Amino acid sequence: MKSHSIIPIFLPELACPHQCVFCNQRNITAVESLPSEEDVLDIIESHLKTIKAAERTCEIAFFGGSYTGLSIDEQKKYLKLAAPFVENGDINGIRISTRPDYIDDEILDVLKKYHVKTIEIGAQSMDEDILRRSGRGHRSEDVRRAAQLIKSAGFTLGIQMMIGLPGDTAEKSLETAREIVKLGAEGTRIYPLLVLEDTALAEMYKDGKYEPLSLSEAVNQTAPIYQLFEENDVLIYKCGLHPSEFLHNGKLLAGPWHPAFRQLVQATIFMKKAKLLLQKDEKIIGFEVHPSDINAALGFEKGNLKELQKNRPDFRILQNENIEKGEIHAIYN
Ligand code: SF4
Repeated sequence: MKSHSIIPIFLPELACPHQCVFCNQRNITAVESLPSEEDVLDIIESHLKTIKAAERTCEIAFFGGSYTGLSIDEQKKYLKLAAPFVENGDINGIRISTRPDYIDDEILDVLKKYHVKTIEIGAQSMDEDILRRSGRGHRSEDVRRAAQLIKSAGFTLGIQMMIGLPGDTAEKSLETAREIVKLGAEGTRIYPLLVLEDTALAEMYKDGKYEPLSLSEAVNQTAPIYQLFEENDVLIYKCGLHPSEFLHNGKLLAGPWHPAFRQLVQATIFMKKAKLLLQKDEKIIGFEVHPSDINAALGFEKGNLKELQKNRPDFRILQNENIEKGEIHAIYN
């Protein structure tokens, strides 16, 4: 199977007049102005040199700000640079991310014309009170409307959500995830909320008006959401922020950041299933999983294995190519 690679082109907050309480887009992207046309072409061409076309599918991704918050002319300017790479077959498609209230039929026509395939909208939550307290400046109805327009126009729909927003709870986050599934999203990103310096959230945190989730709370709240998306074939493009996205700025103030957040979530899901199996059958002496699931099964720094070995020192977790992804097979003596 071909692997998939992304050529990321970051467009910072300059495109966005809003100020969500958590957002300091410059900290996230470390880019302080919109890239020039030469920059964009350089990024695409230098990535393409490192990608073996026969082995990969590849997309250009305009990320960072709200793409469709740019003027139509500016949107076209960037898309005109990227579109020829799709037309000559070097690239399989273009993806953009934006706000739900920046989607309408005219915008979708432009995106379609220039080969955009995937549109990701930042819902963050589907709860009105949370959206208001987070300063999002849009309503859940905007997400529903945008999702419906995007789907009817034939794009692939991604909807991003956050965990731990002001006023959020585990149940409210799960409800947001359920609605993302219902809206027909094909992909998602799950971001536990972090407190970055120079944001309104940082002030709320310093004033004692916002308490971030602990790491274990964030992992435990994300696990059922992750499972729900998997069960409904919603691709989880990302779960947690990569350190390169903000840590080099040294601006993380507080919050449940971990270098392997996704693995922690997957490990939690595995342990829940493993414990259920062990409760039903004490004769189990180990588990086998597909090789792609072995890191999740072992846990971060083999935390799951160590825990399972506390009462059963010889307990094993092995990989086996013949086992379906996501399945756990019990080993007996
Ligand atoms: S809409 Fe996006 S870019 Fe604009 S302030 Fe909110 S998070 Fe930042």
